[in-house]
Amino acid sequence: MGIDLGTCNTLVSVRGQGIVLNEPSVVAVRKGTNQVLYNGQAVGWAAKEMLGKTPGGITAIRPLKDGVISDFEITEAMLTYFIRKANGNRWQKPRVVISVPSGITAVEKRAVYESAQRAGARRVYLCEEPLAAAVGAGLPYTEATASMIVDIGGGTTEVAILSLADIAVCESLRVAGDDMDEAIIAHMKKTYNLMIGEQTSERIKIEIGSASPMGEEKSMEVRGRDMVSGLPRKTVVTAEEIREALSEPVSAILECVNRTLERTEPELSADLVENGIMLAGGGALLRGLATVMQNSTGLPVKLSDDPLTCVARGTCMFLENIELLKQTLENDLDN
Ligand code: ADP
Ligand code: MG
Repeated sequence: MGIDLGTCNTLVSVRGQGIVLNEPSVVAVRKGTNQVLYNGQAVGWAAKEMLGKTPGGITAIRPLKDGVISDFEITEAMLTYFIRKANGNRWQKPRVVISVPSGITAVEKRAVYESAQRAGARRVYLCEEPLAAAVGAGLPYTEATASMIVDIGGGTTEVAILSLADIAVCESLRVAGDDMDEAIIAHMKKTYNLMIGEQTSERIKIEIGSASPMGEEKSMEVRGRDMVSGLPRKTVVTAEEIREALSEPVSAILECVNRTLERTEPELSADLVENGIMLAGGGALLRGLATVMQNSTGLPVKLSDDPLTCVARGTCMFLENIELLKQTLENDLDN
């Protein structure tokens, strides 16, 4: 199985079955103790659902929120739960490829590796997220030509240029979808004295958010708590003002892309003129993002098919390739 251990969502893909699990990377713990609830059963959707309904005492943790592992035990509980759930009743232990954010340290990688082994994996391979994204997006990453991938997740944006199945240049930026949500929250506070929650903010981003004007401009009614009176109130926001609010995180992502291009060898740069940039990750779904990136880099920019599952599908294909590679090696040895 292939696992996309994302900052927002974890997806598991199994050969021949496609995506078998897609849950938030969230764990419910007892407040202040880091003790995972109900023998590690309060993970993913269960953790998210529990939260709205359980006042106090329980809190949600996203152990990979910023692309680094904030708590090893919680991460292990999460990974164990997802691997067991995806493996179902099969008696055979799975071979697992896990994509990890390219910014995590060697110690964190080791922790993920050992967690997966303890969770019952027969064999564990780690794969850098940009590589998995490139495989999933169908880029010719093994060829002697440059491919560029920009994966915008919740906590991090991973920008990488690949050639010959390796990463030539990459940067992991801690600005992505979550920062867009935060920018909208800040805008609502500043402009309307209205406090809104993270889920409302994400909904605004998905419904009317954009990086450049996209024809018909929508508006939306937003509810929250008035900061002065403390009472519930609603107001209407327009796509234009949300675009303005999102301009800071969007610029940070564009700058990161340009910085990475500046660090690229000229021969690889030359390839990119033709090959362009491929976008993946949920954040890439922001309307008009491809257009502004095309303008700021002068390169063709394309959105991958189903950006939210791109990495998970890539990890699964990566596993097949490893097995294929091993098989040919073994055949070569036999002959
Ligand atoms: P990760 O790999 O870090 O877990 P994902 O690739 O799953 O992240 O993407 C999650 C992010 O994508 C979240 O910030 C979410 O709000 C954002 N997102 C999902 N759908 C959309 C959309 N239609 N428009 C803009 N952002 C979106
Ligand atoms: Mg991701």
